[in-house]
Amino acid sequence: SYRKGGYHAVRIGDPFAGGRYIAQKKLGWGQFSTVWLAFDTQSSKYVALKIQKSAAQFAQAAIHEIEVLSAISDGDPSDSRCVVRLIDNFKHAGPNGQHLCMVLEFLGDSLLRLIKYNHYKGLELCKVREICRCILMGLDYLHRELGIIHSDLKPENILLATTIDPAKDPLRSGAPPILERPEGNTYTGVTMSIIEKKLKRRARRAAAKISETRSPMGGTIPKPGKSMEGINVQCKIVDFGNACWADKPFAEEIQTRQYRAPEVILQSGYTSSVDIWSFACIAFELATGDMMLTPKEGQGFSEDEDHLALMMELLGKIPRKIATGGARSKDFFDKYGDLKRIRRLKFRPLDQLLVDKYKFTEDDARRFAEFLVPLLDFAPEKRPTAQQCLQHPWLAMEKSPAQI
Ligand code: ATP
Ligand code: MG
Ligand code: MG
Repeated sequence: SYRKGGYHAVRIGDPFAGGRYIAQKKLGWGQFSTVWLAFDTQSSKYVALKIQKSAAQFAQAAIHEIEVLSAISDGDPSDSRCVVRLIDNFKHAGPNGQHLCMVLEFLGDSLLRLIKYNHYKGLELCKVREICRCILMGLDYLHRELGIIHSDLKPENILLATTIDPAKDPLRSGAPPILERPEGNTYTGVTMSIIEKKLKRRARRAAAKISETRSPMGGTIPKPGKSMEGINVQCKIVDFGNACWADKPFAEEIQTRQYRAPEVILQSGYTSSVDIWSFACIAFELATGDMMLTPKEGQGFSEDEDHLALMMELLGKIPRKIATGGARSKDFFDKYGDLKRIRRLKFRPLDQLLVDKYKFTEDDARRFAEFLVPLLDFAPEKRPTAQQCLQHPWLAMEKSPAQI
């Protein structure tokens, strides 16, 4: 993909935006972009630099993402709403074309990494609650105040405010920022201009300043799979590449498969409550370490049909009116609202699954299910809003019931 229209090749020490940002290391990548840790010489802070592929459709998507991110940052001057902040954006010309770049606040590991780090065993419920509160605060802001549907909520797209391993956190590692290309990492373009040299000197001065002011943040490296004491679970919602304004949804097929709401499969129209469905899937995954629904294509039925069957086994039958009410309903359901090709369902309600398979206590299972099941209502308009979810007693519980 490192060709015309594709990704921009970056080397450590590369300057961006006239030398303001210096690339430090690769943080991740997606279908649209590569994301780099960069040092902002103006603010003396680390930032995440998202460099979009250059082809027209990617540029268009980036313009949209920047528009959404700008609305998010403008509406939250105090940065208290658990959504990533856009710091800057600019164009960068490279051998593969013009790349739109977004400068985002630097965040830590994703919830997916946190789940893996915990060996897919599920997190303690007090941590799950803390993360749920953050995500819901973000969703409440997006939905109620901005009218934005994220439409791709999943563990990869929720980032912790810090890294799991402090040694990987540039702020805590103690290493100074890289301000120029290391030896051997040669520059293939024109020789360095005087301006660039000046900028470098400025960057070096800025770095000297930060190493003086940075507060020493000690702390031990937590052992994988053991206590999560060391991890502060503040988190933020990222990746607004698929977000849309609630009053003009543009795509029919939204969301990543396992986090997709039934109305999207049935094509009965959707609202911000699709994010609430995905949120419930994430909460289940955090608490158990397993995805809630993992549909697969089988003999004589599609992935979509398996998905609907799995939903019903966990949550009960889809009411006939809803099952038959979507543009695609006829592909899956007969006129009675029964699946055409999957006839026998093995019903097992959520609370029972939590006890049987995940060894929850009866109390924990019942309380968690009381919180989650309403969010997974087949009738989208009956799902509570993020604001209503935040009022639920399950989120207010601080200790296990035995301790209350
Ligand atoms: P997708 O294919 O999911 O749409 P994308 O190209 O839109 O991907 P993002 O999902 O925004 O890119 O980012 C890709 C990865 O980069 C993330 O999964 C994460 O690992 C990392 N990343 C993104 N933003 C940040 C940030 N602000 N701080 C730290 N890491 C980040
Ligand atoms: Mg992503
Ligand atoms: Mg994206």
